[in-house]
Amino acid sequence: MTGGRPLYLHEYQPKSQLVVEKHEVLRPKFPAIDVHGHFAAIYSDLWLKEFNRSTRPDLDETVEMFRRNGIKRVVNLDGFWDGFMGMTTDYILDSLRRHEDFFINFVSVNTEKAKESGFESYVRKHLTESREKGFRGIKLFKHVSIMVIGEDGRFVPGRNIPVDDPRLAVIWKTAAELDMPVLIHIGDPVAFFDPVDGNNERYEELISHPEWQYHKPGMYTFQELMEMQERLLANNPDTTFIVAHVGSYPENLGFVSKCLDKYPNMYIDIAERINELGRQPYTSRKFFYKYQDRILFGTDAFPWGMDYRYPLYFRFLETWDEYFPVYGRWNIYGIGLEDEILEKVYYKNAERVLKL
Ligand SMILES: [Zn+2]
Repeated sequence: MTGGRPLYLHEYQPKSQLVVEKHEVLRPKFPAIDVHGHFAAIYSDLWLKEFNRSTRPDLDETVEMFRRNGIKRVVNLDGFWDGFMGMTTDYILDSLRRHEDFFINFVSVNTEKAKESGFESYVRKHLTESREKGFRGIKLFKHVSIMVIGEDGRFVPGRNIPVDDPRLAVIWKTAAELDMPVLIHIGDPVAFFDPVDGNNERYEELISHPEWQYHKPGMYTFQELMEMQERLLANNPDTTFIVAHVGSYPENLGFVSKCLDKYPNMYIDIAERINELGRQPYTSRKFFYKYQDRILFGTDAFPWGMDYRYPLYFRFLETWDEYFPVYGRWNIYGIGLEDEILEKVYYKNAERVLKL
C-alpha cells in the first residue's frame, strides 16, 4: 500500500527473491553474424529524429561496439530505395563504405509504387542495379501491409497491400533470379491485434505506444496476416524468405514449426523475441534442436545500446540460467544449446543463406 491505497500497475515492480545460478555471457561462444540490424541513424538526421536523438552515432565507434560484443558482421536492413527520406542508395552504401567488410546491406522496394503502372519495370531495374552495387538481400518492412501513410506523411496502422498480392510477385520473382534472400517483417506480437484491456498481456506497452495498436476497424486480423504469409511462402518456392521475429509468431512455435516443415524456402530470425522464446524454454529448446538449420541470429540491432542487449541473447542461448529479467514484465530462462547448434545459429546458417 502507498499512502493507504493499493498500488497502480506501473508502481508494481517486484524483485525476484530467487537465489539461483547466474552467468554473465559478454561474448558469444562463436563469433556471430547479426542478420537483423538498423543503421539509418548513422546516415540520416530525419531517422535520428524518429528516435528522439540529436547526435549521429560515429561509424567507427559503432563497429567497435559490435566487435567487442563478439559480432563479426551485421546485416544493415536500412538500404531503402532512391528517394527515401531524401537519400540515394549510393549515398547509403558510401556512408558505410569504410567498413564494407563488416556491413552486409539489404535494399528495400517502394511498394507504394505498386499502386501505379510501371511497377514491374521499376522493381526489375531497381533490384538489378542494387545487386550490381553490392546489396546482398532485400528487406520488406511491415509498412507494406499493416501501415499506411497518414495525414502528416508518417506511417500509421492501416490496411495496405497484402503481402501475397499479385502486384508484388515481381519482387519475389526478381529476388529469386538475382539470388537475393528476402527478409520480411509481417505482423507484430499477436497481442497488438487484440483489444487493449486487462486481459492483454502487452497492455503496458500498448498504452505507452498507441501506434502499435492494430485492433482497429479495417485492419487485417493476425489470422489473416498469417494466411497471407503462408500463401507468400507457398506461391514463391524459389525465393528464400527470412521471416523476421521467429516467423512472425513466436507465441505459437507449433504454427511456426508447421510452416518450416511445409515451406523449405522459409528461414527465421529471432530478433527482439527472446522474451517470447525464453518464457517457454522447454518448447524453445526442442524447436531450436529440430530447426537448427533454419534459425538465424538477429537482434534488431541499433547503433547504440548493444553492450546491454547482446549479453541477454547470449545468456538465453547458451546458459541454463533461470527466471532472469530481459525487459518488460517477463523473466526468461536459458535454453543451454550445444556448441554444434550454437555455431549454426550464430553464423553458419547466415553464411549459407546470405552466400558469404
Ligand atoms: Zn527490424
